[in-house]
Amino acid sequence: MHTLFRARQIPLPAALVRLSELAHNLWYSWNDSAKSLFAEIDATLWDQCQHNPVRLLIEAPNEKLERLAGNGDFLRRYQAVIQQYDAYMERQTWFERQYPQHVHQAVAYFSAEFGFHELLPIYSGGLGVLAGDHCKSASDLGVPLVGIGLLYKKGYFNQKIDNRGGQQAENVVYDFMKLPIGPAYALDSESSQECEEPSSSPDAATETAPEELYITVPVADRTVRLKVWQVQVGRIPVYLLDADLPDNSPWDRELTGQLYGGNQDIRIAQEVLLGVGGIRALRALGIPTGAYHINEGHAAFLSFERLREQLDQGLPFHVALEVVRAGTVFTTHTPVPAGHDAFPLPMFDYYFSKLFADYPGLRHDFTRLGFDERKQAFNMTHLAMNTAALRNGVSKLHGHVSREMFREFHGDIDVNEVPIGHITNGVHLNTWLAPELKALFNRFFPGSWQQHQTNPDMWSSLQIVPNESLWNIHSGLKKRLIGLARDNLREQRRRSSLPADKLAEVDGYLSEQALTVGFARRFATYKRARLLFNDLNRLDRLVNNPERPLQFIFAGKAHPADQPGQDMIRDIYQVSQMDRFRGKIVILENYDINLARVLVQGVDVWLNNPRRPYEASGTSGQKAAMNGVLNFSVLDGWWEEGYDGANGWSIHSNDKSDPETQDRENTQSLYHVLEHEIVPLYYSQGEFPSPWVDRMKHSIRTLSPVYNTDRMVMDYTNGTYVPSLVRTQRFVSNHYEEATKVADYKKFVRSNWQHVRVLEVNDGLTTGRQPVPSMAPTKEATATVHFGPMWYRDTAVELVYYEEQPDGWRQVVVVMEPTRHLNENTIVYRAVIPSHLRHGSHFSVRVHPVSANFTHRFELPLVKAY
Ligand SMILES: *Cc1c(COP(=O)(O)O)cnc(C)c1O
Repeated sequence: MHTLFRARQIPLPAALVRLSELAHNLWYSWNDSAKSLFAEIDATLWDQCQHNPVRLLIEAPNEKLERLAGNGDFLRRYQAVIQQYDAYMERQTWFERQYPQHVHQAVAYFSAEFGFHELLPIYSGGLGVLAGDHCKSASDLGVPLVGIGLLYKKGYFNQKIDNRGGQQAENVVYDFMKLPIGPAYALDSESSQECEEPSSSPDAATETAPEELYITVPVADRTVRLKVWQVQVGRIPVYLLDADLPDNSPWDRELTGQLYGGNQDIRIAQEVLLGVGGIRALRALGIPTGAYHINEGHAAFLSFERLREQLDQGLPFHVALEVVRAGTVFTTHTPVPAGHDAFPLPMFDYYFSKLFADYPGLRHDFTRLGFDERKQAFNMTHLAMNTAALRNGVSKLHGHVSREMFREFHGDIDVNEVPIGHITNGVHLNTWLAPELKALFNRFFPGSWQQHQTNPDMWSSLQIVPNESLWNIHSGLKKRLIGLARDNLREQRRRSSLPADKLAEVDGYLSEQALTVGFARRFATYKRARLLFNDLNRLDRLVNNPERPLQFIFAGKAHPADQPGQDMIRDIYQVSQMDRFRGKIVILENYDINLARVLVQGVDVWLNNPRRPYEASGTSGQKAAMNGVLNFSVLDGWWEEGYDGANGWSIHSNDKSDPETQDRENTQSLYHVLEHEIVPLYYSQGEFPSPWVDRMKHSIRTLSPVYNTDRMVMDYTNGTYVPSLVRTQRFVSNHYEEATKVADYKKFVRSNWQHVRVLEVNDGLTTGRQPVPSMAPTKEATATVHFGPMWYRDTAVELVYYEEQPDGWRQVVVVMEPTRHLNENTIVYRAVIPSHLRHGSHFSVRVHPVSANFTHRFELPLVKAY
């Protein structure tokens, strides 16, 4: 994309000058040679500063850098990394090959959180890490994405666990000068007008220093000023907005203080900054943008700002809405209505009062776009649904749950017809796969295998990887995890001023030989972190089996306002302190991307037992899977589609049972599978568990090609981004001709739909004749439809019935053919159907409007059924 990122040059010896550039591009964080290079400068400092190369370079002693600048071996590796970096930034990409005509239009990806790396803690959990991984794969694939988010001065919080198991939330104020971020700069106005040419020439740029970028956003009755920062994620720029400026009131300065901090007032104000401010930042940057991705409802206010822009162009509201919808993609992540952001109407009114004062006509229309009848509130998900032509859930099962949840948006249709699809989440392979495993695969896989990670055949090379090599590497990763776990536990105790022998005790905790199960994620109630503890005696027998011991490592943060989540932490802590579980069940503090990486690479089994179907997708299990860690999970989210019966294990329950029964059934299944399958398999061969390694390989081979973000971003690109770019171009060309046509057509249909009626349905007579001897007898049914002022060709007349299939009832839709005009606007339709069907009891007839310009068949929620 055409952006200027002028990262500060950190003073360095001349021979190493490009380390500064490298440090300012998060590309380094998924390149193992680059990471090793930084670690070599000062391994202790590297760990101390959260693997932040900017801080490392600033704080490393000068003599050390000078010495390395004279070290031929180091210089060679430095050169090699710089070469890799340049090659990466310049290589021709998948997107350039697939869509050369779209490389000049950006896709703007809006998200309230981004989890790129532990050094930039502007994420709280899976949603943020997903956004981070999305950007990284977009970079690898060359998708012209730009990220938009907020720069939280205090990030999320650091978690400490005290000696009673209480969670202490510690706030850290980050020093932006020591992070790999920098101010963003506006392009000069001329070059930003057109989308053809990249920014001004290098000489022009040095002549006049560009200005740091600031924008303003109306929030309630005030104007908030924002500074735009940039973080470079490979090829992808991500712009982060920061309100902590002297011009703003103390209250406003805090708006970008903390991720999900504070009350609903802060929340809505943050969302205004993200949505409205994000669009303004894109405009000020001069980035030509053709598609907008709302990653969860938080970001949906971007549609308001885009509507306002179109209205300023002179478009009427209904046309502006079509333009906005054409280019917007919405991904929902929350399978329960209560989890969607909704604000009381007076609060919504207050935060948009300045905007509504300037555009008095808008209040009614804007409110309607997000109005939630049931909650009597302004619902961000409703706004997103109503302003995005393409919407999706994040796994197959979650797609289904979302269609059920949002059925009301589309009138009286079958749940499977609701136009919400799914794109299953994935994870960024180069971020999550252990460097040691990458090195192993490099030896046996085809060259640049990472670029072919979505090809299942590529992964069959795993067959030739010796089981012993895979196992040895896995054992090393487990050892590393246990070391880190002990450090983490020792630190917890050190803070409680325990005597030295209590600290030393930790060195005996966890065994490198024992089967190790990991459970780490946000402590949200639906994740049921305590399920394992429902029968402590049974757990005791598993854990303390002298021949076949089992151990558990827990970690995770609970939101500071979530008391039940914090109670879970306390309960796990208390179990971990019981004599019979000490050193065998542990809970680590401050779960972040760093700890996640070590955990998903180092345990043997990854446990996940959410209450179905609340886990929209889940991604930590995908990270584990590519590292050969076997999943043991409820068939929810991604695991419902990933599990093949042999690449891990499932925790069963009858999905239709009530929550208590589900808890009980899942608990039984959890113990049973551990006792009868997992533990015996792990210990089946004494020293070297080959059947286990076979299963690891099977898991890697079946899951890695699918549950990675390359596959996911390709799906988004092919299925949503490119169609949005194309539709936007079509809609806006010729002075919005197409958008106007669609908008006017919809308006016409809406105001005339009342006249459309199915007057009569005739069951037809069974002919008794069978068209083909083996087929059931058929008959012809007819329906008489009155269209009023509508043109019959602008509708579909369909006969609908249900057919029993092994997996339940399936809807069958038969398109009826017009046969006879009774008069100008009354027509008889016919269809051939199985002769046993009767109108009313078996089938119905429906009419709905259609248009080639609709994104989907039920774009208008208008259906007349009879
Ligand atoms: C991947 C990840 C998550 C998501 O975990 P789930 O089990 O999918 O909920 C949360 N936090 C961190 C730090 C992660 O890396």
